[in-house]
Amino acid sequence: MPMRMYREIETKERKLKEVICNQCGKRLKVEDGILKEGCFHSEYPFDYFSKKDGFIYTFDLCEACFDGWIDGFSHPAEITETREYL
Ligand SMILES: [Zn+2]
Repeated sequence: MPMRMYREIETKERKLKEVICNQCGKRLKVEDGILKEGCFHSEYPFDYFSKKDGFIYTFDLCEACFDGWIDGFSHPAEITETREYL
């Protein structure tokens, strides 16, 4: 008789299936659950001092749409280099 016994459990694993740019509708490259191109992901919860308090804005932008967005800023975004590459 085995000294260890296991019971089978069901897991609800989530795997990324597809990412679509909210701006242009481009389908981004996803392979085996991994997003393989540049994407700006937002899941931003506005807070008390906003008219959008209590609402979370979730969207993705492809890199071209992200570039178009920040190019329209009257003051450029601050860009710093990450120290560690993952
Ligand atoms: Zn796009």
